[in-house]
Amino acid sequence: MPSQRSAVIVGASLSGLMTALTLSRIGIRVTLLERSDDTGRTGAALHVPDGLVERITGLSSAEVPQPITSGIQTWFAVHGALRKAIEADANITLRQNTAVRTVDQDLNQAWAITTSGERIRADVIIGADGHRSVVRRKVAPEKPDATFAGYLIWIGIADEPDLGARRWPRDVAFLGDDNNTLLGYPLPGLDGSTAAGHRRLGWAWYDASRNALLRSAGAVDGSVVRHSLMPAGIPNATYQELALQARGLFPSPWSDAILDSIGRRAVIGTPIAEYVPDELVRGRFALVGDAAHVPTPMTGSGFSESLQDAEALAVAISGADDIVVGLREYEATRLRSARSLVQSGQGFSRSFAARAA
Ligand SMILES: Cc1cc2nc3c(=O)[nH]c(=O)nc-3n(C[C@H](O)[C@H](O)[C@H](O)COP(=O)(O)OP(=O)(O)OC[C@H]3O[C@@H](n4cnc5c(N)ncnc54)[C@H](O)[C@@H]3O)c2cc1C
Repeated sequence: MPSQRSAVIVGASLSGLMTALTLSRIGIRVTLLERSDDTGRTGAALHVPDGLVERITGLSSAEVPQPITSGIQTWFAVHGALRKAIEADANITLRQNTAVRTVDQDLNQAWAITTSGERIRADVIIGADGHRSVVRRKVAPEKPDATFAGYLIWIGIADEPDLGARRWPRDVAFLGDDNNTLLGYPLPGLDGSTAAGHRRLGWAWYDASRNALLRSAGAVDGSVVRHSLMPAGIPNATYQELALQARGLFPSPWSDAILDSIGRRAVIGTPIAEYVPDELVRGRFALVGDAAHVPTPMTGSGFSESLQDAEALAVAISGADDIVVGLREYEATRLRSARSLVQSGQGFSRSFAARAA
């Protein structure tokens, strides 16, 4: 009987978790390596399709450890449901606080080398390590970095009961002027309530006027995005400017939600990066999710494209006797769609960044 095939996945955020589940479903033994311990995680809102966890795992609704309702959900809700499914899967080992320094391969195997010097071997290594992927450095050494798109997004979430507004939105809202675009989205309350006045309001404010701040904070270095501005790293003067602008630019309850988040210092500024891939695979390495393609969030499709990567990878590998041939099939299936996704957002990015330049 042939030995069980194995994969190391670098990164256990949404793409890494989904890919672990689709690979496990076709009988691959998966080791997930994640540098964080899940504290200090950030995330915006995502559109979740019907029966997400059932679809990835093949389990029935009754068997899924923590189902998730379809529609707009927070990153944390999606992450929580996927984590529960991972914990229930004996084929998957999740190792947190394990940062990968680099990856390498020969004709017979691939391996990840952690920052503590440990080598973890497998038949394939999947990079699900986001927009600054270390695996991408080996898949596309000629083009390893995502590029700063010229603007950031401020994101926050407020509880409707704390806002005292008179009217509540029914649906997602796009607001603002040429230089400031706001995407507002009602989210279920922490108790799951979807009744107006009892939910949460998420907001994402596109702002191209903060590039000097991003550079002085080291969040953007040259054309490379290094990190987000976390709440404590945002200067008080910037919070005050944002509060003043929000009052003038956006109607209630969105302005109330922003002011509430500012008052609690619960705002994150994420510089936006973009990456159009030329390759998704090299030998025993493959990329999924934001490691593979980084679109502006304006496309609203980063998550659904990551789900398609996870599914396509499992289909391609399961149909191939030689796992390396399976990876090439994965690239053939996904590359064109991944490139179009990112390119579809670049028109917006260029004109938005140029307006404020
Ligand atoms: C501000 C913002 C708003 C967004 N809004 C939307 C939206 O509205 N709709 C939508 O569909 N998508 C949206 N997205 C995109 C979406 O969140 C991602 O496409 C999706 O979550 C997939 O991310 P990922 O798991 O591939 O990468 P990431 O979430 O970046 O995860 C990468 C993981 O790899 C880990 N890692 C990195 N390097 C290493 C290493 N060397 N060793 C070990 N671990 C490592 C990280 O700690 C992290 O856990 C948004 C993104 C941002 C930034």
